[in-house]
This record gives sequence, structure tokens and C-alpha cells, in this order.
Amino acid sequence: MPIFEYRCKKCGTLFEALVPNADAKTACEACGSKQVEKQLSTFSPAVATTPKNPCSTGGCPSTGKAGTGCSGGGCPFS
Ligand SMILES: [Zn+2]
Repeated sequence: MPIFEYRCKKCGTLFEALVPNADAKTACEACGSKQVEKQLSTFSPAVATTPKNPCSTGGCPSTGKAGTGCSGGGCPFS
């Protein structure tokens, strides 16, 4: 199950919750309020610090041609 970060609208506590899916509701671990909002920016520290795949924006560095995108063969980013 994925871990999502939530912020409680009532007390402001930031917490992480293991939920079955992205739409699942959870409650504040500090005050129990269900008035929480999912934080979209941080899924996990590992994902947050991963560089964006340059191929997805049309700038695959393995081709040596900026803006051409990735052809797929042997590209370390695809
Ligand atoms: Zn709370």
C-alpha cells in the first residue's frame, strides 16, 4: 500500500498514512479529525529527490540531440 502525507486542517499536524489507494480517507493521528488534506508534493523522500526523466520532456541525453526525445534503444532514462 502506498504511503501518503496528509496535513490536518484542524490542528495543522503533518503525518503520513498507509492507505489502500489515493482516494482513501484517513484521520489525523494527533487529534483524530477527518478534516485532512493529502499533500501532493511529497510521496516519499526517495521519489521526491529523483531527477525528472529528461526523455519524457523530449530531451533524451543518450541521443545527443536535444529535443528529439528517446528512441528507446539502450537509453538509461527510459
Ligand atoms: Zn489534527
